[in-house]
Amino acid sequence: MMKITNFPKAAAGAVALAAVCAAGNAFAEVYGDPPDAMHAWAVHDWNRPKPHRVGFDAKGVPSDAVVLFDGTEKSYRENWVSSSGGAPKWKFADGAIAWVPGRRTGGLKTKAEFGDCQLHIEFRHPAGIKSKGGPQMRGNSGVFLMGADYGYEVQVLESHFTCEEMKGKPGYVDNYADGQAGSVYGQNPPAVNPQKKPGEWQVYDIVFHQPVFKDGKTVHPGSLTVFMNGVLVQDHWELEGQTEHKMRTKQRVHGPKGPLALQNHGCEVEFRNIWLRPLPSRWANKTHSRMSADPAEVAKLRRETAAALYAKIANPDAFDAGTVKALAEVVSYSGEAVYREKLLAAARKFDASKPSAADRKSVKAVLGVLSRSGTVPEGLVK
Ligand code: MG
Repeated sequence: MMKITNFPKAAAGAVALAAVCAAGNAFAEVYGDPPDAMHAWAVHDWNRPKPHRVGFDAKGVPSDAVVLFDGTEKSYRENWVSSSGGAPKWKFADGAIAWVPGRRTGGLKTKAEFGDCQLHIEFRHPAGIKSKGGPQMRGNSGVFLMGADYGYEVQVLESHFTCEEMKGKPGYVDNYADGQAGSVYGQNPPAVNPQKKPGEWQVYDIVFHQPVFKDGKTVHPGSLTVFMNGVLVQDHWELEGQTEHKMRTKQRVHGPKGPLALQNHGCEVEFRNIWLRPLPSRWANKTHSRMSADPAEVAKLRRETAAALYAKIANPDAFDAGTVKALAEVVSYSGEAVYREKLLAAARKFDASKPSAADRKSVKAVLGVLSRSGTVPEGLVK
């Protein structure tokens, strides 16, 4: 027996989807596998909303980015405070923010708070940097996602001379791997060492997803993906808790946002070109994802899409090829009886109406997609 997919009954007064109603074509060909319980859209769905445009400014900063430091003192003063609060105490000079020696200079943090994000940040160490104080004092700082209080540190350090290939050679700096530049501090070393020489600017591009908590427990660990100078050094590292010195920590529950913080580790370092794009949680997609979709949310959107498409059909009782295909498109989103019965009746009348070979072929192609998934019986149109 042919499997027929059952869908929830239509919600009264289903909301028409703006994206669907705004579509230029009256009918978008049913082409790929139709929606299912975890996917509100078909494969290759022409009705699916298109991505919004992101442009770039003259420096290549995306138009939807929050610019946290653009090389001017104004943006530094506007966006940053000292880690203890109050005016930031690092120095602005030559388009960069530079650490200032002294016990009371503290670190920096942004006034605004963020959660999941894409972050671009550049840093530089002095060309003649020394190892005075040990390898962890070679320009140590840190990029803390969600703040230094409960955040996650991508290490900033001068590590150009720490690679395996330098071992035993003049200039080699020995250091523990999970504390090098590009490490998720104390958790995972960078996969490789693409750091340029001190005196050159280094670039981090970071994708951060914070842990997801529910009822006081971690249900998804969160992750850090890091590119250093364009080279992948952290490949979706799943966080094992907040980053700590010496300790393997358990994840502590925290709020959804925190500041971006720059660590004061008593070392010379500069930062520039800092921008951030807030991102939705990877687990926020409730309508189209095998990973995170909620079947009830999927069904709701499918019903809304079907209602919007059905409202565009001039005469649902007609049985020309265009109407049959349009009804099939509606049924691909929702198998509610009102749509399904219209489609079955129209398809049978179409079949008996001696349509042209071309119309018959195109209708069979559309119905074939639906019968392949068990949404309608096979052989509706011979
Ligand atoms: Mg550090």
